[in-house]
Amino acid sequence: MARVVVVGSGIGGLGCAALLAKQGHEVQVFERNDFIGGRCSSSEKDGMSIDNFAHIFPIGNKGPLGMIAREVGERIEFIHHDPAALVYDARGGKVRIFPEPLDITPLPAQARMARNLGVKPNKAFGSARLFRKILKANDAFIDANDDKTLESFINEYTDDPNVHRFMNVFCYMMFTISYRRASAGEFIYCFREMSKAADISYPKGSAGVLPIAYRRGLERYGGQVFLRDPVRRIICREGKVAGVATETGEVEADIVVSNAGIDLTLELAGVENLGEEFAAMARRLQYSGSGAVAKYFLSKQLVDAPVIIHIPDADAGSMFSFIEEGGTPRDLMMMMPVVDRLDPGSVRAGHSLIIAATPGVAEPGNEATGRLLEALERQLFRLFPEMENNVIWRQEVRPEHIARATGRKRVGDSVGIAQIPGQVGRNKPSPQTPVEGLYLVGMDAGARGIGTWQAAASAEKVAALIGERNPA
Ligand SMILES: Cc1cc2nc3c(=O)[nH]c(=O)nc-3n(C[C@H](O)[C@H](O)[C@H](O)COP(=O)(O)OP(=O)(O)OC[C@H]3O[C@@H](n4cnc5c(N)ncnc54)[C@H](O)[C@@H]3O)c2cc1C
Repeated sequence: MARVVVVGSGIGGLGCAALLAKQGHEVQVFERNDFIGGRCSSSEKDGMSIDNFAHIFPIGNKGPLGMIAREVGERIEFIHHDPAALVYDARGGKVRIFPEPLDITPLPAQARMARNLGVKPNKAFGSARLFRKILKANDAFIDANDDKTLESFINEYTDDPNVHRFMNVFCYMMFTISYRRASAGEFIYCFREMSKAADISYPKGSAGVLPIAYRRGLERYGGQVFLRDPVRRIICREGKVAGVATETGEVEADIVVSNAGIDLTLELAGVENLGEEFAAMARRLQYSGSGAVAKYFLSKQLVDAPVIIHIPDADAGSMFSFIEEGGTPRDLMMMMPVVDRLDPGSVRAGHSLIIAATPGVAEPGNEATGRLLEALERQLFRLFPEMENNVIWRQEVRPEHIARATGRKRVGDSVGIAQIPGQVGRNKPSPQTPVEGLYLVGMDAGARGIGTWQAAASAEKVAALIGERNPA
């Protein structure tokens, strides 16, 4: 049995902690916030449990999120909707509305999607080949495309502008970066797995039920969580981890697993222990993007779909250029979970909770976020005119709120290090650091996937690695 300290209680940290406790290790989790779950947490308001950040789970029970829960004796009910979303596709000044089914592997479903998207008949063959390549990709094909951008990969099959617009929007929803930056291999892997599983879902009771279940699982096997107790230093001696110094004292450990992210882990353990090479690698990493989010609690139900995806009336190539170049686009990309439809029991009867998110700058405190939130509201009221007079309250999520949840001051990133060429697959940072017994878990280490799915996949991987090396 090893003494394990986990730094941080995100999905990666708590998931790994619960699995290690089940293996028979003595596990303590230290969390700097006064809540568990990090970017997958919820808060209570008006008698409802409201997601702070994450809302849509690309693979629920069939993937690592569900697997970890089952492994530690918990059961999470994930709710499915099919169609999973309604697409509002704005093209040439007109908005076309069509459903997005859960399973797009059957050819007729792909043909319908192509028609809905307005793929030109002479481009239909190229776009069909593109989807077939993605859905039937094997792992070698994925690895071979890791260092290519998604845009250049798609260009090998089709130049149809509507396929490009759709894929760019989908890519942003998955990785919070544009398809001009995202790794094609990473996208193909995630799209293939998601289509195979057809398991896009929402955990009954809010996103926060996931960390709560993992915590219960951890405690079932004797583990503990300490809130409001930040780790100030990871103690290393002669190339090995020795424990942590927290706000309240020093704790000895044989193994430390950091869910704080690679950059904060470097600060906690120090370059003198992790080495110049590791530090240079960590400093070179680029982070994912972010967004501006506004939650609206409404006095009545106005939107009859679990999720709205708005594809803006813009070319794929320039769709997200405002993030680097400034300005506010005329039409915004928008993803909008409608919580009262996703999980009818979680919102006060007859009321609605909608969460509108649009891509934005990741820098905390940047004044562009305010302008985007105003434009987002104008767009919402344009698309759903009845909304304006039915708002009971409104709440914003800006990059500074995200940064507060992660502890990362310079960037309010949605999903950790960006899933771009050079940072995915074989080039993803390894969970094993140069310090013996010090591991990374979560978005920055070891796994592929989208958001919480990737964090949970990392948790499984790190727990298995530690288990192999340290049989309890
Ligand atoms: C607005 C938004 C929307 C999102 N939407 C979705 C979605 O719909 N679907 C989806 O799957 N994903 C979504 N994501 C992404 C998803 O939430 C994250 O990818 C995932 O939750 C990250 O998990 P993690 O394990 O890496 O840890 P994090 O959630 O980053 O948690 C890390 C934890 O470590 C703690 N910590 C850091 N330093 C210390 C320290 N020194 N001492 C103690 N504790 C420390 C932090 O306080 C935090 O609790 C969204 C993210 C955001 C921001």
